[in-house]
Parts: sequence; C-alpha cells; structure tokens
Amino acid sequence: MRPTGADHRYAVAGMGATGVGVFVALVRSLVAGGRAAGAEIHIFETKERLGAGVAYSTPHDCHLLNMRAATMSVHADDPDHFVRWLAGREDASASEAGEYVPRRLFAEYLQEFFEEALAEARQRGIKVVTHKSVVSDCREDERGVHLIAGLDHFVFGRVFLCLGDLPSTEYLEFTKLPTYVHSMWQGAGLEAIGPDATVGILGTSLTAVDALLQLRTTGHRGAITCFSRRRSLPKVQGPRVRHTLRHVTEANLRRLTGDFTRQLEFTEVAELFRRELEDGLGIAIDWTRVLARPEETFTHTLAKDVELAEKGQTLWYSILDATSEIVPLVWRSMSPEARASFMTEHLSIWSMFRHCMPLDNARRLLDMATDGAFVVASDLTSVSYDEDARAFRIEAGGAAHHVEWLVNATGTGFALECSDSSLIQNLLMRGDITPHPLGGIDVDFDTLRVVRRDGSLSARAHYIGPLTRGVHFYTNSFETNLANAHSAVAAALTRLDSPAAA
Ligand SMILES: Cc1cc2nc3c(=O)[nH]c(=O)nc-3n(C[C@H](O)[C@H](O)[C@H](O)COP(=O)(O)OP(=O)(O)OC[C@H]3O[C@@H](n4cnc5c(N)ncnc54)[C@H](O)[C@@H]3O)c2cc1C
Repeated sequence: MRPTGADHRYAVAGMGATGVGVFVALVRSLVAGGRAAGAEIHIFETKERLGAGVAYSTPHDCHLLNMRAATMSVHADDPDHFVRWLAGREDASASEAGEYVPRRLFAEYLQEFFEEALAEARQRGIKVVTHKSVVSDCREDERGVHLIAGLDHFVFGRVFLCLGDLPSTEYLEFTKLPTYVHSMWQGAGLEAIGPDATVGILGTSLTAVDALLQLRTTGHRGAITCFSRRRSLPKVQGPRVRHTLRHVTEANLRRLTGDFTRQLEFTEVAELFRRELEDGLGIAIDWTRVLARPEETFTHTLAKDVELAEKGQTLWYSILDATSEIVPLVWRSMSPEARASFMTEHLSIWSMFRHCMPLDNARRLLDMATDGAFVVASDLTSVSYDEDARAFRIEAGGAAHHVEWLVNATGTGFALECSDSSLIQNLLMRGDITPHPLGGIDVDFDTLRVVRRDGSLSARAHYIGPLTRGVHFYTNSFETNLANAHSAVAAALTRLDSPAAA
C-alpha cells in the first residue's frame, strides 16, 4: 500500500552515531521496499560533522574507541567493514594505532557511511533535506507528527528521535564555578586547565581515563587525583577469542521464564553468568576474592591487569563480550526489582569488568601512575568548594584533599526532568514521553515507539539511543544503538504497510 498524507515524510532529530544509523537503515529499507521514489527524509542537527555526536567529536588521538575496530562495523552482516575502511586509509594513525583506533576516525567513517547513503537516496529519488537547527517540540495528531525547529513547522509521518545522552546530574551545584568542568565533552572541556594546576577527577571509569590521558598528552604537570566511591580503574582488555555461549542463551532464558511468561530474579541471572564464566574458564571462580576490593595499591593492580592482558589471560573478557547481543534480552527477562537491584548494587562492578580499557591506554596510564602523575583515592564521601582557599575540598578514604580544578567524569545522566532540552521538556510536560523507572525514556522494547504517560505507545515517534537504557540496558554501545535503529525503522515501515495498526 502507498503511504498517504505525511506518511512518506520522515524526520531524524539528532545526527550523532545513532541518527546516522537510523538514516542509513531508512534509506536502505525504503529502497528495498520499493518506496524510495517520492519519499522525503529531513534530518535535524546543529553540529557540523554528522555522525560525530558527543562520543566521537574529540580531536585528541589519545581518546580511543573502547571497542576493537572489528566490533564497530556499521554493517551487522559485515563485521570487518570498519577494519577494511581503516586499512584503506593513508592516514598513519589509522594503520599504526592497532586494534583500538582514535575515536575521531570512527566519526570520519560514519560521515562517509552517511554520504554514501545520501548519494544512494538521491539517486533513488528520495528527497533528503538537512536542517541545521534544534528541534524544540514535536506533537502528534491524526495528520502526523508536527515538529518545530527554529521558526519552522513541519508535519511528518514518522519521527526518529536520536538525541543522545544527558549530561551528568551530579555536582550541578558547582556549574557556575570557573574551575569546575561539568562535562569534558562540552564547551572548553579540559583546555582551560593550566599546566601546573592541581586537578581532581570525580570518577574512575573510562571517562576518567580519557581525562587523564588528555591531560598527559597536552603537557599537564600538576598533581591529579581520581576520586571514586567504591571501585577503582576499569580492568584491561586482552586479546579477544571466540566464545560460544552455552548458558546465557535465548533457549535458557525461554526455559527459565516459561517462554517469557514470568520474570527472572537477580540470583537466577547471576547463576547463568556464573556458569558461563566458570564453564568457559574451566575453573571454579573464587567470587569473594574477585568481587572484593583489592588490598594492594591501584598501581599494583593496574600493573597486574596490564600483564594479564599482555599474556592473553583475559578469557573472562571474551566471555563477557560474547554476551553483548543477548544482554538486552536478558535485561528484558528480569523482574523490575532485579533490574533495580542490579543498578544500585552491581552496576559499578559490572562496568569495571565489562567496560575495560584498551591495552594501549592501560599501558599509558601505568606509565603515568608509575611516574606519580596521578593517584586514586576511593571511599569518596563529600565534595565542597572553599571560597577563601579558592579550592575544592574532597573527603575520601578518611582524608581531606584540596584541588584547584575539579572535573566531573561520573558519566552521563538519565534524569529527564534535569534535561535542558526544550524538546524533552515539552514532550514530558504533555505526557508524550514517560521517564523509565530506571532513568531515561520508556520505549517499547521491539519497536522503540515511545511510551506515553497514559501507557499507550506513540503511533509515529520512536526514540533510539543511550536514553533507552532502562529498557535495553546496553545502550552505551554503538552496536546496540545500531541494532535498535534497524528495529525502529523496520517497525515504522511495517506499520505503514498496515495502517489499521497505527
Ligand atoms: C565519550 C564517549 C565515548 C564512547 N565511546 C564508545 C566506543 O568507543 N564504542 C561504543 O560502542 N560506544 C561508545 N560510546 C557510547 C555512545 O553513547 C554510542 O556509541 C553512540 O555514539 C551514541 O550516539 P548518539 O547518536 O545516540 O548520541 P550523541 O553522540 O550524543 O548524538 C546526539 C546528537 O543529537 C543532537 N541533538 C540533540 N538534541 C537535539 C535536538 N533537539 N534537535 C536536533 N539535534 C539534537 C546532538 O547535537 C548530537 O549530535 C561512547 C560514549 C561516550 C559519551
């Protein structure tokens, strides 16, 4: 059936990596479905470089992809696509960087991928209109989705919202202070920090690692302390070996849930992962020791982790990595209580093992730690600003630390009510989107259609990206967001085929 009214008009709001994934999936699906001629795709983004978004805009070569190039292909059915693209470049940093390449190269790759799809769209008769503007509102009625961008008003049949992350909602009380960096990816970031200034970094995750390496490569000499509440630096990724899942499988999830008619408790899911790891490693794991905080210094732990990765004794990483694809389904199978308990009790240890450092970065960090360029202080209890001393006072590990500059590296936020996006606020206010109980936006798992306040699903608006973490969990990976982009596009076009369902 040919679409009618606004149904041939599509909008993609936000053209970071996810928006580009949606655009390309849309072009391909329209072409494959014989619906290209006469279709219109409008894209909305203020950033100059499409695809770069927040994650891949950094110009610093020390900011590496935290996933191997072999896992970052834009084509799920052609995993070596990015690796081949890198091999075909003359740029030395692409060929010398090894398996973990600078993130800026991934932005270039995405831009090329976008341009290829754009050329194909135009050749096949799809009109593509680029708007360098922010979408400030979108409202749905029987005619379609009314979208406001600047002074313009458009009506679309389907809208894909790919607005990315929210900034951290922690430590907002310091945002007016000139020596506080709320997000190293926005504004001047770390550039304004003087070379001899003392710096405190809140957090020890991959963002903190990026901050440390950037300070090092830009010649910073002052003392740096990373503060954490519980955990220390991420583990180190070793070589990946192929692992076929035996326990964390869809068949087991079906069996345990009676074909998804009941939800799993946290202990049941933990048991599946325990068996997967112990079977894969061929040993009984001493979980108390693994989960306990190490007694030795962070430098000692880091040196040991680097050594294990160099020797390839990181099979546990390959096993966890193999669960990427099934994790959204595992998450969906868990009871709300199990998910909430995971978020509060276990997320930090999961992240420490699952979101590990590339070996190259770990070696650089070890050099820095050995030189005494930074230290880690755990058991962070409070942060305040001393006006008289013009310094931040941080209580951690029973001691008080004073630093001139403070960098928030606690990651991104998920509290919609704190978002400064007028689009999100307008949608929230009208109940056209709903906050997920675990943060971010509530969407339908399969179609990514947004859930309204009354519990109904939008017929025409899909949200794809990191903010669907409450529903899909593993949304801080390009792989998951790309898979979700494909699901959303497939669902949107299927519903056009059966308008009665709309
Ligand atoms: C620092 C960092 C490093 C990462 N590294 C990796 C990695 O190595 N590998 C990996 O798999 N994942 C990584 N991730 C995870 C990352 O979140 C995803 O891979 C993916 O890049 C998210 O892209 P996005 O397009 O959803 O969001 P974003 O990159 O945030 O892009 C959103 C875009 O939407 C635009 N926008 C927002 N609101 C509007 C509006 N109202 N109107 C118009 N435009 C709007 C913004 O300008 C922005 O360009 C990283 C994340 C971060 C933050």
